[in-house]
Amino acid sequence: MSDSFYQFDVIVIGGGHAGTEAALASARAGARTLLLTHAIETVGAMSCNPAIGGIGKGHLVKEIDALGGIMAKAADAAGIQWRTLNASKGPAVRATRCQADRSLYRAFIRRAVESQANLTVFQAAVDDLVVEQESVRGAITNTGLRFHAPAVVLTAGTFLAGKIHIGETQYAAGRMGDPPSTALAHKLREGRFVVDRLKTGTPPRIDGRSLDYSKMAEQPGDDPRPVMSFMGRTADHPEQVSCWITHTTERTHQLIRDALHRSPLYSGQIEGVGPRYCPSIEDKVVRFAEKASHQIFVEPEGLAVTEIYPNGISTSLPFDVQLDLVRSITGFERAHITRPGYAIEYDFFDPRGLKASLETKAAAGLFFAGQINGTTGYEEAAAQGLLAGVNAARFAQQKDAWSPRRDEAYLGVLVDDLITQGTSEPYRMFTSRAEYRLQLREDNADARLTPVGRDLGLVDDARWENFSRKREAIAAETARLSALWAAPNNALGASIARHIGVEVSRETNAIDLLRRPELDYAKLMQVPELGPGVDNAKVAEQVEIETKYAGYLDRQREEIARARRHESAAIPVGFDYAQVPGLSAEVLQKLERVRPETLGQAQRIPGMTPAAISLLLVHLERRQ
Ligand code: FAD
Repeated sequence: MSDSFYQFDVIVIGGGHAGTEAALASARAGARTLLLTHAIETVGAMSCNPAIGGIGKGHLVKEIDALGGIMAKAADAAGIQWRTLNASKGPAVRATRCQADRSLYRAFIRRAVESQANLTVFQAAVDDLVVEQESVRGAITNTGLRFHAPAVVLTAGTFLAGKIHIGETQYAAGRMGDPPSTALAHKLREGRFVVDRLKTGTPPRIDGRSLDYSKMAEQPGDDPRPVMSFMGRTADHPEQVSCWITHTTERTHQLIRDALHRSPLYSGQIEGVGPRYCPSIEDKVVRFAEKASHQIFVEPEGLAVTEIYPNGISTSLPFDVQLDLVRSITGFERAHITRPGYAIEYDFFDPRGLKASLETKAAAGLFFAGQINGTTGYEEAAAQGLLAGVNAARFAQQKDAWSPRRDEAYLGVLVDDLITQGTSEPYRMFTSRAEYRLQLREDNADARLTPVGRDLGLVDDARWENFSRKREAIAAETARLSALWAAPNNALGASIARHIGVEVSRETNAIDLLRRPELDYAKLMQVPELGPGVDNAKVAEQVEIETKYAGYLDRQREEIARARRHESAAIPVGFDYAQVPGLSAEVLQKLERVRPETLGQAQRIPGMTPAAISLLLVHLERRQ
């Protein structure tokens, strides 16, 4: 074997959602990349619910896609039930979600990884990192192999010192069926990272043949079906199936209350904090004691398997209680459990130890992404993976790091929230976390991020050409409608009144007409002089949304420009905050702990006062 077998530009540790996006992005950005992971079979594995997208999460997936990532394409290849959530609400909060066939999803990701140029995969458990003079140099496997690279991305998920709990039983594992990453966790605890524990849980899986669907409500997917990728087509989707809805009963809640003392969550056995928005069924029964029943979504795990995922009953109660509580659910009276539910505790790192590029402040060239940064969810992990991967490649190539701002992407919101505020519970994305929601829609993720993705070397020619065509078509259609004038006494005005019953009371162009609440693009195109319009529904959608919301969007853009003037003021690395006169001891301590890179980040540290920010600003301006 030649030495080049051990020498790379970037090493990615972990083949989960963060790791695969990181490895693919790094390789696409031109870096010779090595993906080291426990088991090649589990590359792209979904540890919990086989679903992609949802509110806030769908936004992240579309952003990953716009940056040339793989998650949306894999969802299109594996999605067996599709929905647009919040379809009747405003465009900012509409979100795409699909139930995925777990094995189709994994196979797609594995194929993508194996066919990516510049990317090598090697199956190994990493036990240690090589760090010299505060710079990472490589990774060492449990069999003593040493791989070298100037940049390393760690994406170990729930595996670091992972501990599974089922009732009173507990054992070390990364997730059920996979080994934990114990040696590496111990090494990292010895380093300069702030480590804490979090936990998450999963429900028991059930053989769908043992369920009585006649007692449940069917939930077919949407028709027409949405797609996830900008390049996706519904023809790429596999066979479609329904999900079902049922609910817990009074008896379920009683069984749980009676067994609480045996739950590791309530007996004090689990110390880590769990996900607030994905609570266990025992948490729900305690926290919402007044509710007599909770909804459960019965979701198929795949087309070729009979297992179902009962979404809403994540639990770590002992198995005998799990069996009784499952069988107390309507339609589940004869249910056969195929795998028990469990909770898992794992190490994560205080994300305030990261730069906006996801490089650690403690070791140059070392990047952290995914669940180890305190997040939960495939989409949150994948988005961070892509960012860390491209920045690791850029680090190795001695190029400047890139990270999106809060007004450019949910990815920007996610990273900024993590690095300035840290997290004490698993962080998941919601649209409410973004202050500029109207700018950050699913439908314009391509426009927001494809150009930068192209500059970063992540977007291939086919996507770029499609995107450019769409962008030109939107501009051309907007220009066409802006040049068509209707007046009370001209032919177009008369035709509009005749065909769609709208009176034009003063001279106005077709774009202004589109702003009227009673009109939409399709209706306007019924006027022969205006129609038939564009045949690409996505182009029509953009013309309509950008026109209808132009007033709000412009106001928000002004607000963003104002905020940015201070936002991007850089704070020098190693800046001595003690030199700034007038800062309180508390503020000083917070600034020294987080070490923000810009004034904007400093502003968002919890407890930071406007007075302290002004003092800092004045001091920074004087230094220039
Ligand atoms: P993972 O998907 O965990 O991937 C980590 C990868 O790193 C694995 O391939 C592993 O083999 C590899 N690895 C780890 N250590 C090493 C090492 N030392 N050497 C080599 N390879 C290594 N998310 C939700 O949104 N909601 C939920 O309710 C939810 N419940 C969950 C329940 C359970 C039981 C589990 C396990 C996860 C749950 N998740 C949930 C989380 C979801 O699975 C993760 O957010 C997501 O998988 C994180 O992606 P990741 O890439 O960071 O890590």
